Amino acid sequence: MSVKTSRPENMALLVYMAMVTLAGLAALIIILLLPSPPISPGEIVFLIALNLFFSFFQVELPSGMSISLSFPITMGVFLLFGPAPAIFTLIPGLIVHSFRRGTPSRLPFNIGQASLSLILASSVFRIYGAFPEHFSLGEHFFLMVGVLFLFDIFSNALVSGALAFQGRGNFFQLFFSSLISDVLKIIPIYYTIGIIFTLVYQQEGIPGGLLVSLPLVSVYFILRDQELIKESQEKALVDPLTGLFNRRYLETWFSQNLQDIIDEKRDLSLLLIDIDNFKMVNDRYGHQVGDEVLKLVAKNIENSVRDNDIVSRFGGEEFLVLLPDTSPEKSYQVGERIRETIASKSLDDSGNKIQVTVSIGLASLRGQDDEKKNKDELIRQADNAAYLAKFQGKNRVRSYFQDF
Ligand code: GH3
Ligand code: MG
Ligand code: MG
Repeated sequence: MSVKTSRPENMALLVYMAMVTLAGLAALIIILLLPSPPISPGEIVFLIALNLFFSFFQVELPSGMSISLSFPITMGVFLLFGPAPAIFTLIPGLIVHSFRRGTPSRLPFNIGQASLSLILASSVFRIYGAFPEHFSLGEHFFLMVGVLFLFDIFSNALVSGALAFQGRGNFFQLFFSSLISDVLKIIPIYYTIGIIFTLVYQQEGIPGGLLVSLPLVSVYFILRDQELIKESQEKALVDPLTGLFNRRYLETWFSQNLQDIIDEKRDLSLLLIDIDNFKMVNDRYGHQVGDEVLKLVAKNIENSVRDNDIVSRFGGEEFLVLLPDTSPEKSYQVGERIRETIASKSLDDSGNKIQVTVSIGLASLRGQDDEKKNKDELIRQADNAAYLAKFQGKNRVRSYFQDF
C-alpha cells in the first residue's frame, strides 16, 4: 500500500512522514543485522524481477490508497527469507512506481513504512527466532495468515496516518474503512496467492514462483475492468457540467424509493428550481459564462441542503431537489434559503458582476390523493408552482397547494 496523491504538504504531515521514514530506516538497519536464511544471487535477481514486473500493476482502491500486485510476492519472500530480502525485492518496484506517478518525494516514506511494517509484523510473531525451516500448510497456516494480516494492519495504519495529516479525514475512519472496503476486497486472493507462492516456491523454486504468480495478471485485469465499469456507471448518472445527478438518476431514485416512502407514510418534497432570465445571461455574456453561472447555482443549491437530499440537474437551467422526510413547511424554508443564497451571490466575469435569481416551485407528497402519489404528478405540480412563481414576478418560492 502506498500514499498516491501529491497534495500540498503541511508541517504536521512532513514531520509525521519524516518520523516514519527515520523509524523505517532504523528498521532497515536492524533487518540487515539479523541473520537471514540462505538465498542465492540467482534467486534474488529472479525475485526482484518478478516483484518489479508486478509493481507495474497497481490496483486503485476506493479509499485513495493504491496497492501493488507484487504484494503477494513480497509476502512470499518475507515468509521464506525474512524481512531483508523482502524489503530489497520491494524497493526497485517502489522506486519505479513513485517516478511513474510523479511522486518521488513520497518514496522514502513508502520504503520506510514498508520496512517498519515488515519488522513489526515479524517481531510480533518472533518469526525470526523460530523461523520454520520448511513451511507446511497444516502446521503454519495460522502463522502465515497472521503475519500477513499484521503486516496489513501496520502498513494500513501508517498510510492512514499520512492520509489523515493530508486532511483526507479522521484517522480511525480512514483506517477502518480501508481495512474493510479495500483490504477485504483484496485479502482473500492476495493471501491465498502469497501462501501458495510460499509453499510452492520452497518446493519447486523459480518455476514454481513463476507459475503461482501468473494468476495475478488476471486478477489485475478483472479488478481494473470492475473499476472501469463502476466508473462509467457512475458517470452515466451524473451531469458532466455541474456534477449533479441527472434525470436518469432521478428515474432510478423514484423507482427504487417512492413506493417505500409512500408505504411507510413518510414525507417527500420536491423543489423545482428554474433560473430567471437565463437566456439574457447567455445573450449578454456568452454561453461559457452561462455555464459558469449554472455551476455556481448548482454549488449553492448543494450547499443549502442536507447530505441526504438529492440535487439534480433536471434540464437546461432547471434543477430538481428531492427532500426525503421533509414536511412541506420545512421544504418551503429550504426553498427560501436556496433562493436567498443564490440571490446574494454573484459571479465575477472580468469585472462584470453577474447576479441571477431563481424561481422555485414546491410540491409534496403529504395530503395528496392516492392516485396523485406518483413521480410524474409530483413533478408536474412542482413545475406548475414554479410557473406561478414566474408569473408572480420571479425570485420567489411558490407551493402547489398553499403558501407558507
Ligand atoms: P425565465 O425567467 O422565464 O425562466 O426565462 P429564461 O430565459 O430563464 O428561460 P428560457 O426557457 O427562455 O431560456 C432558458 C435558457 O437556458 C435557454 C438556453 O439557451 C439556456 N441553457 C440551457 N441549457 C444551457 C447550458 O447548458 N448552458 C448554457 N450556457 N445555457 C443553457
Ligand atoms: Mg426553464
Ligand atoms: Mg429560466
